[in-house]
Amino acid sequence: MNSTESPPNPYLLLTPGPLTTTASVKAVMMRDWCTWDEDYHRLVQAVRRDLTELATAEPGFTTVLMQGSGTFGVEAALTTAVPREGKLLVLANGAYGRRMAQIAERAGIPFRALESGETAPPDIDRVSAALQAEAAITHVAVVHCETTTGMLNPVEDIGRAVKSSGRVFIVDAMSSFGGIPLDAAAIGADYLVSSANKCIQGVPGFSFVVARRQELERTKGRARSLSLDLYDQWRTMEDRHGKWRFTSPTHVVRAFYQALQELAAEGGVAARHARYRQNRDALVAGMQAMGFAPLLPPAWRSPIITAFHSPAEPAYDFKRFYGRLKKQGFVIYPGNVTQLDTFRIGTIGDVHPADIERLLTAVAASMFWRQRGT
Ligand SMILES: *Cc1c(COP(=O)(O)O)cnc(C)c1O
Repeated sequence: MNSTESPPNPYLLLTPGPLTTTASVKAVMMRDWCTWDEDYHRLVQAVRRDLTELATAEPGFTTVLMQGSGTFGVEAALTTAVPREGKLLVLANGAYGRRMAQIAERAGIPFRALESGETAPPDIDRVSAALQAEAAITHVAVVHCETTTGMLNPVEDIGRAVKSSGRVFIVDAMSSFGGIPLDAAAIGADYLVSSANKCIQGVPGFSFVVARRQELERTKGRARSLSLDLYDQWRTMEDRHGKWRFTSPTHVVRAFYQALQELAAEGGVAARHARYRQNRDALVAGMQAMGFAPLLPPAWRSPIITAFHSPAEPAYDFKRFYGRLKKQGFVIYPGNVTQLDTFRIGTIGDVHPADIERLLTAVAASMFWRQRGT
């Protein structure tokens, strides 16, 4: 290997991000950019424009990029959007929903969490009742694909309930944006948050918030933090045509721009969604044939990540199973459901049905708990 060649990846990441990226996405990072030069600013503006277009065809939306991982984007959105006299309703059915409640708690934002349990979607009637009962609630937040279980939450129905009662709607579309068709305007979202290293298939380093401009314009001075002030970040990017307030992750932004071109070349979100579904369908069918049971019923499953019950056999051990798969070139994800023993396999990233077939062969060879003398 000479110094400009990158080493091959020792394994495929079957995780919900960072995920496996193409060689071409990684390759474009091999140059440096000046953060105040107009070449770089043009790149930033193109990324913002593309993201807004991906989110909706309706006018009136804008995109703000924010340094850090996805959580930084969620925290920026929540702590900038909700005013001092406001109150947040968080619909939670997993770790990422609970994290939004934690963010509110830490920032001193009045909030209420409506839990539906990890294996059930939010109940629309309960949401409507809560909104009717509590006039103080100004904002509602929910996760689209709850990566804890792979559950696809009914954001269309929730959005209808939120908008018909005149509240602001914040959606954590982190693990679904770009991988599942979703129209921000159609679901009534005022804020949609995602990050560079999920379904757009970039590398980690920044998050982004697609926001209804009219809503964002009202948030001046509301932020509880300097660096996570979404309004200030937006004003700087708007007024200075692609400038970030503080050092921006230049290489990551360049890689993300390449990833957006590759999303378009694949055929856009619909084509990517179709590939992820093929991956997921092949995975679930193959795993079920080997005796693994998915955690959720089919109607609630996303094509992003699938949770399986751990085998109910005394000899089973996740770490050992994981290690065997890793040796064969696949990295899977531990479970994160509170009361149940599960593991998860992601089907997003530069991963194709042929990879899933190879994975299934590797799984079959790794079921040590069924093999004698291992
Ligand atoms: C990945 C993810 C996040 C953000 O996690 P980070 O580790 O901060 O990138 C938030 N919400 C959901 C649903 C996610 O899948």
